[in-house]
Amino acid sequence: MEQEGEVWVYIQHQGKDVVEPSLEVLGKACELAAALKVSVAGILAGEKVDVLAEKVLMYGAQKVYVLQSRHLEAYSPVIYAKALCKLIRSKRPAIFLTAATLQGRDLAPRIASALRVGLTADCTDLKIGSYTDHKTRQEYNNILLQIRPAWGGNIIATIVSPQTRPQMATIREGIMKMPPQVRSSRGEIMHIPPDVQAGDIKTTVLKRILTGRRVNLKAAGIIVAGGAGMGTKDNFDLLRQLAHALGGEVAATRAAVDAGFIDHEYQVGQTGISVRPKLYIACGISGAVQHLAGMQESGKIIAVNTDPDAPIFSVAHYGIIGDAKDVVPKLINTYRHLSH
Ligand SMILES: Cc1cc2nc3c(=O)[nH]c(=O)nc-3n(C[C@H](O)[C@H](O)[C@H](O)COP(=O)(O)OP(=O)(O)OC[C@H]3O[C@@H](n4cnc5c(N)ncnc54)[C@H](O)[C@@H]3O)c2cc1C
Repeated sequence: MEQEGEVWVYIQHQGKDVVEPSLEVLGKACELAAALKVSVAGILAGEKVDVLAEKVLMYGAQKVYVLQSRHLEAYSPVIYAKALCKLIRSKRPAIFLTAATLQGRDLAPRIASALRVGLTADCTDLKIGSYTDHKTRQEYNNILLQIRPAWGGNIIATIVSPQTRPQMATIREGIMKMPPQVRSSRGEIMHIPPDVQAGDIKTTVLKRILTGRRVNLKAAGIIVAGGAGMGTKDNFDLLRQLAHALGGEVAATRAAVDAGFIDHEYQVGQTGISVRPKLYIACGISGAVQHLAGMQESGKIIAVNTDPDAPIFSVAHYGIIGDAKDVVPKLINTYRHLSH
């Protein structure tokens, strides 16, 4: 393995554990590093974060750089960016990735602007490939292709930053597969004393209040989602009944949220949550690209729609052409009948 030009992932942690989106990004980083034949490293910053290093190795990293200091106890963008920029300048990774969590979205642009490198936010895929600059005819090989929807989701753009290092991207939560956890970790844990002082802290955290989400759609094995085609809030309740019968969660399109059928936190798609349940039942959903972006990786998709030409059928494994108001009660009854 080459030592230079590594693929790095910023590992966010909360409540003494690594957050899942960082591990999802790590899984993708392993693929990229394998294609480049370089090491993949996790970057941990915080106060007592060395205890998390083993876990990062168990999810595929070959190295973990630990930046540990009491000054990094609470996440603060200025001091974290300073510590990370120093590390990046000294080790010169080829690629630096973070999950597009609130913290990742806060931190990555600060690092990118301090290092004067490009950054693509909210990527939905990453690949290693080539790019030719048509003006200069210069060819760049083994660069990071940063893929994300653009122009309101109407195109999927591939963005490159071929001339600067590291190539930086934040990655949407829930899109990349969680890598498998191995039982015993093998790899290097490197403690790098961060060059930070108390004076670098510009803000003081007085109190931290964690408000958990009321719904955790990402953890749901079964999702029953509804769209504008459900017609009314009362009809939407049918989906809650089906979700309840199947032991799943209910979700929605933006049109259903805008119509007031359900809260925004249940919205799946480009500007909502990305999910990959084992089963996704889409009722009265047309299948706009912005919705598909958040659910098309589901294990099995069943679509119920009155319009046989609805785009949702292009991603569905099973399609039912019919009125969801008739079909959903039948599904509930059939399931109840079969399960008794
Ligand atoms: C920048 C941007 C971001 C966006 N982000 C998101 C996002 O995160 N998530 C999202 O979902 N959308 C998003 N959208 C909106 C997206 O473009 C669509 O407008 C939206 O997904 C459509 O929702 P829908 O399928 O519920 O409604 P519609 O497109 O109106 O489709 C309703 C469907 O229901 C069917 N239908 C009607 N009556 C019945 C019935 N009785 N039984 C069965 N089927 C019936 C119709 O045939 C139709 O196919 C975004 C748009 C933009 C521009």
